[in-house]
Amino acid sequence: MKILVVNCGSSSLKYQLFDMTDESVLAKGLVERIGIEGARIKHTKTGMDAVIRNTEISNHKVAFKVVVEALLDDSHGALKSLDELSAVGHRVVHAGEKYAGSVMITQDVIDALEECVPLAPLHNPANLMGIYAVTEALPNIPQVGVFDTAFHQTMPGYAYMYGVPYHYYEKYKVRRYGFHGTSHFYVSRRAAEILGKPVESLNIVTCHMGNGSSIAAVKGGKSVDTSMGFSPLPGVIMGTRSGDVDPLLVSFLSDQEGIDNKAMSHVLNKESGLLGISGVSSDLRDIEEAADAGNQRARLAEDMLYYGVRKYIGSYAAAMGGMDVLVFTAGIGENSGRAREGICTGLEFMGVKLDLEKNNVRGKERIISTDDSRVKVLVVPTDEELVIARDTKKIAMDRN
Ligand code: AMP
Repeated sequence: MKILVVNCGSSSLKYQLFDMTDESVLAKGLVERIGIEGARIKHTKTGMDAVIRNTEISNHKVAFKVVVEALLDDSHGALKSLDELSAVGHRVVHAGEKYAGSVMITQDVIDALEECVPLAPLHNPANLMGIYAVTEALPNIPQVGVFDTAFHQTMPGYAYMYGVPYHYYEKYKVRRYGFHGTSHFYVSRRAAEILGKPVESLNIVTCHMGNGSSIAAVKGGKSVDTSMGFSPLPGVIMGTRSGDVDPLLVSFLSDQEGIDNKAMSHVLNKESGLLGISGVSSDLRDIEEAADAGNQRARLAEDMLYYGVRKYIGSYAAAMGGMDVLVFTAGIGENSGRAREGICTGLEFMGVKLDLEKNNVRGKERIISTDDSRVKVLVVPTDEELVIARDTKKIAMDRN
């Protein structure tokens, strides 16, 4: 059974083709700069060098056609015919309160996702364009939606509500949703498997730290709280997003600077975070280098990141009545031993003891706490595509 996983951004389309008999990846690639000059596809058949093709790609429908051509190519393709493809799984960012799990995409689902566009104006339209592109190219193929928000739908009301008048929740669905759910789901399960314990028996804090970062409290396998909220802006400081700020900063700064909501939103999403504090870069590698060279603002940005994540870990341990496992994933979590050490330093009182030698690891599954650490600390590379492929297989098979 071959399954294609599609992840559309506003000007990009990422894909992975899985053979679900052994969950191997047959090919993967990225179409970039859709609708912009300089569009290209980078396609890699497993075991071969990447092939790059520059071509005009005006929209997501054209992008998907280019992907299909690459997948069917005689030399670097991975399919002889599209009939080999059993289903397509889509990463979709926002499903509101409607879906707490993955679903077969029907017209009702598309309508629900369109309704969520005001909640995720940057992401859902692109995800929907991916669904429309596949529907046009392969009208009979089953398509499954896997939602970033779904895993967090188990949060209790007292965790997801904001302290604003209740009618705003009723009228506009203003609440905490949380994101990166597929990643928090995957790494919490995988950590339990590595430790040989049922996930239902564990209190786990998962730290998805990449360009965007979120922390989640996973109690008994269910998300009970997470640091992102109504939007992916709050929580810890990120590459260019501010993380938590006093909401009155927004009206204060827009008054002072004479800028409107849209411009304020740009400041908070694109000019803040590690970039805004350091003035150096949004990339932690550059910040680490600059801090080592004596740049005080880079040092401050790094310290803010560690301190912020540490505080979330502490508060989620309190939310769950303790913590058994701490997991790091995504670009920073998987690759920066320095960030993991910076975060864990000061958590010894909670039973976190990092093994500094084991912590010297990049992009590999490993237990990085000492043998006598009460809290097990792990690096688990995330694999959202695999979760999407698994859900797609299950839902497409159940249909038959
Ligand atoms: P992601 O969004 O998960 O792809 O993560 C991207 C981010 O991971 C980059 O912006 C970097 O800040 C960070 N990153 C990747 N590799 C390293 C590394 N070796 N050391 C520190 N940060 C890293």
